[in-house]
Amino acid sequence: MSTNLFDQLVAAFGGDRVRRGARLAPLTTFKVGGAADWLVEVQDAHELERALRIAWGANVPVTVLGGGSNVLVSDAGVRGLVIRTRGGATAAEGTSGVRADAGVSVNSLVGWTIGRGLAGFAAWAGTPGSVGGAVFGNAHYGGRSIAELITSVRLVTRDHEVVEVSASDMEFGSDRSRLQRTGEVALSVLFALAPSSDPGALREDARASLAHRKRTQPLDTPSAGCIFQNPDPVRDRVPDGIPVSAGALIDRAGLKGHAIGGARVSTAHANFIINDGGASASDIRALIDLCRAEVRARFGVTLREEIRYLGA
Ligand SMILES: Cc1cc2nc3c(=O)[nH]c(=O)nc-3n(C[C@H](O)[C@H](O)[C@H](O)COP(=O)(O)OP(=O)(O)OC[C@H]3O[C@@H](n4cnc5c(N)ncnc54)[C@H](O)[C@@H]3O)c2cc1C
Repeated sequence: MSTNLFDQLVAAFGGDRVRRGARLAPLTTFKVGGAADWLVEVQDAHELERALRIAWGANVPVTVLGGGSNVLVSDAGVRGLVIRTRGGATAAEGTSGVRADAGVSVNSLVGWTIGRGLAGFAAWAGTPGSVGGAVFGNAHYGGRSIAELITSVRLVTRDHEVVEVSASDMEFGSDRSRLQRTGEVALSVLFALAPSSDPGALREDARASLAHRKRTQPLDTPSAGCIFQNPDPVRDRVPDGIPVSAGALIDRAGLKGHAIGGARVSTAHANFIINDGGASASDIRALIDLCRAEVRARFGVTLREEIRYLGA
């Protein structure tokens, strides 16, 4: 079965893009985690669909990895096939639409849209990861979510059908989309953008966003961005006087700078855990559990992860 899978992948994508026992750590921003049984790199939406169909035909479990900037891969790695999306097409569609393949990086989409004088994406400059990953978790920045820019998502359903799903049916919410519930895979996304009356301002917005990130986030150490979602102001009762922010709760629980093995709560941003050198996935997981337990014990708030766990 597995040899069959390997042969089919090599026939479809060439030997240099298919690997057995491939280390996943270098493909994630945390730089930790074990190996995938199989890894294939796909370069556009057609290849992504093709790789999925090969895996399904061989009855092998499949995991999609985008930029690896919102995942913690377990030390034991990931069984089955990991499909890594890397790049793809970006093209104008209709009068103000832009369609981008799932593997296009958010940063290159920012550049593409600014270059064409289209407003909407500039403030996303510096957001790591791919379009597919951004849709999966409804990425957010500065109070806006990526869903606000989306018209529809072309995806493959669990029944292996390709459908175009309107944004209103994507179940977008805070850090949420229906992809998390269904296991469907995004192939490409249609965005609605408006022509800007001031293209120079777009570059300025992008620069400001990059500068803000540099000031507030530990960008020179491996991390996966924010570990936890911010508390839901309706569902979670955050005590008076404490901001409704996961970082503030972790900070006030006295955990800023706290370390387990090579994992440390960032001193720059308490909702970031950094790999301070030599961290294992289980170090990071233990620190996540500690943060949740301390915040629950002190403030009665149960934090929920924004990051996703891959592998056992
Ligand atoms: C320094 C830093 C700063 C960050 N800043 C922000 C920020 O401002 N705002 C924000 O929202 N996030 C931020 N993040 C987190 C992360 O960049 C985003 O969540 C990003 O959208 C994840 O995209 P990705 O391609 O890296 O996803 P991955 O980490 O590769 O995957 C995340 C999940 O999406 C799934 N997935 C990926 N592609 C597809 C697909 N095509 N179809 C279906 N499922 C798919 C994966 O299976 C996985 O479950 C930051 C991270 C870092 C390291």
